[in-house]
Amino acid sequence: MNPSDSIPTLLSLIADRDHFLVTSHARPDGDAIGSALGLMHLLEGLGKQVEVAFADPIPVIYLALPGANRITHTLPTNPPDALIFLECDRFERTGFPIEAFDHLAATFTINIDHHLSGRRFASFNWIDPHCCAVGSMVYDLAVASSVNITPAMATCLYTAVLTDTGSFTYPSTVASTFALAEHLVQRGADANRIAQQVYFSNPASKFHLLGAALRNLHVEAPLAWAWITLDDMAASNATVEDSEGIVNYLIGIVGVEAAAFLREAPGGTHFRASLRSKNTVDVASVAELFNGGGHRNASGCTLTGPLPEALDRILTQLRHQTLLT
Ligand code: 5GP
Repeated sequence: MNPSDSIPTLLSLIADRDHFLVTSHARPDGDAIGSALGLMHLLEGLGKQVEVAFADPIPVIYLALPGANRITHTLPTNPPDALIFLECDRFERTGFPIEAFDHLAATFTINIDHHLSGRRFASFNWIDPHCCAVGSMVYDLAVASSVNITPAMATCLYTAVLTDTGSFTYPSTVASTFALAEHLVQRGADANRIAQQVYFSNPASKFHLLGAALRNLHVEAPLAWAWITLDDMAASNATVEDSEGIVNYLIGIVGVEAAAFLREAPGGTHFRASLRSKNTVDVASVAELFNGGGHRNASGCTLTGPLPEALDRILTQLRHQTLLT
């Protein structure tokens, strides 16, 4: 289905239903949370009953978003009329165990995604890799539905767009992204307050962890990589969310075209990898080799340990990928 046909179809699917559950991916980021809450406000504006559930905790910088206090961390026992997945390529990407969906097997599912690696796993799929954020897709839906775009909805959607464009720096940032930001600010999003909340409210542990990661920095242009272990996390008194964004320092190095940041996961048997690239180097296809996914310039996956083997596997593929471009 052409993306432009998806909105009217989705609006009629919504009109036919009353009760929705909205969820998004594990270790949620600004787009996952901002678009889920934005969609919650949209659906409630249409008179629907909405629950929002995330498997993982909400990072502290997003807790002030309007409606964040309504987020639950379990799936409802009574099946909703539709289950809406944002930015997920399969049920498991939510972080909820697959068995948690057993009682929802007959529920109508809706998948809204902007990842190149998105998959059509739901009853209805709207995947548009040209969109800078799922928040922008929710905004288009809101405009088409004629619902009142409240300051609460605008705040959530602006946060989604701000964070998923890397503060308007990624290649997905085009003229229409700024027009979207302008509309959201006109509808009541306070750009300065949101930036203060997202970028200037971090716990000190995040910077201690960054220091540990940068002690493990290796640069062999066009690649850069770094890692943190569970010991680094403990020594920094850090949480998983403190590791978000460390990879952006690596790709910020001149001459580096692809970067990998590895974080040892609890249990010590595997590593979460965050990959970033510049220009035409495609790290989504590298992540997909390891059952992960994402965008051309930002992706992630899980690697089995130990660390030297995990690094070797991912760096081999990144080297190969940078040579292709
Ligand atoms: P990050 O490195 O910030 O965790 O993720 C970068 C991008 O890749 C985000 O858009 C995120 O949704 C996506 N991503 C990260 N890990 C995975 C994964 O395991 N599977 C899929 N499908 N996408 C991922």
